Amino acid sequence: MKAIEEVLQEVAERLKDNYPYGHPLYAGQMLKPPHEVARRAYELALHINPNNHALDGGRASSAMEKDAVAALARMIGWDTHLGHLCSGGTMANLEALWIAGQLHPGKTILASTQAHYTHQRIAGVLGLPFEAISCDRRGRMDIPALERRLASGGVGTIVATLGTTATGAVDPLAGLVELRSRYDFRIHADAAYGGYFLLADNLEDGTKLAFESIREAASAVIDPHKHGLQPYGCGCVLFRDPSVARLYRHDSPYTYFTSDEMHLGEIALECSRPGAAAVALWATQRMFPLERGGEFAKGLAAGRTAALELYDRLRRDGRFVTGSPPELDILVWAPHAKRISDASDLSRRIFAEAARRQLHLAIVTLPVGLVDVQDMQRDGDTIVCLRSVLMKPEHREWVDRIWSILDEATTAAGVRGFTG
Ligand SMILES: *Cc1c(COP(=O)(O)O)cnc(C)c1O
Repeated sequence: MKAIEEVLQEVAERLKDNYPYGHPLYAGQMLKPPHEVARRAYELALHINPNNHALDGGRASSAMEKDAVAALARMIGWDTHLGHLCSGGTMANLEALWIAGQLHPGKTILASTQAHYTHQRIAGVLGLPFEAISCDRRGRMDIPALERRLASGGVGTIVATLGTTATGAVDPLAGLVELRSRYDFRIHADAAYGGYFLLADNLEDGTKLAFESIREAASAVIDPHKHGLQPYGCGCVLFRDPSVARLYRHDSPYTYFTSDEMHLGEIALECSRPGAAAVALWATQRMFPLERGGEFAKGLAAGRTAALELYDRLRRDGRFVTGSPPELDILVWAPHAKRISDASDLSRRIFAEAARRQLHLAIVTLPVGLVDVQDMQRDGDTIVCLRSVLMKPEHREWVDRIWSILDEATTAAGVRGFTG
């Protein structure tokens, strides 16, 4: 048998093959390092390794989960709720749509063309019809298109995305709520990535109104492992009406013995769940209460400010075209070229040149309509763009540095600025 130290040395060597996710020059995918308090609380709980399926397996951590989830429900503005943590946004959305499907059996689920791919797959798993509704130029669900679809009937649930994964667009949820006075459907808010922006104080009015309207939805998903400073394995599903608990009802001959109090496994689709994840979230919320104007909220606002600053520089520089102004902390852009296909090739080249200079961006393929392509020849329906998620509060201080590396990488990629 090898010594632990020896094995851990091998582990450390293997782990070197990664991007520097915690560094501000990692400005690519939706990756945000967990806060130290979350990591340390998680490690502490691991010494016990509680299982939040039943109170039998994790009394203290189940109580902490209920507290932490209640804080998220209060952030939405609900005074009643039912909810729990789960492995991530996919599982959380599955549970929300599973409940929605039980209440509207056989009816269609709608989401926008920019919604997370998970919704169509989940509808497949649940055996429910799924249709995508087109988006406006800013990547938000198009209300007139939605209303036309509603008028033809058979819709059970509409998924509103509050912060799309690709561009951070926020569906006009207030408009959906308004349609509910004329059509009968359920609203589910997928705020896996964007949910915490409820606390930010620097959103556009329309975006702010959409977030405030989450309280009118029947269910919502927020991922603490996206923006909430948690290690992976922490999503959250919330229902406004606690009586949906009846739809989870099942018997377990093995578990629910020690208490008549609710066991979280009685209201969750998963059985075993990590109590440590609940402990980490609870500890993080003790240190950073979910308050407008609080430290945590300022961090979210700083990310949006960083995105707006970088967006402004891109707009002022003739070498680039951009998507619409960032609603949250994601922005997309591409080099200005003669043809769309040239711009796509150059985006890939800039991505590689930036990475060689330690600036890590992401690339995303978008419908041409979401990008202000100016006079480029439209030789395709999609364009490959550079994408950056500026989700670390430090990003705000790093915009200059990010810009100067991007500038060099753009030159190195052979982009000279295209005129006419
Ligand atoms: C990330 C994301 C999901 C999926 O969540 P996971 O935690 O990755 O399973 C779903 N919807 C949206 C809007 C997301 O951003």
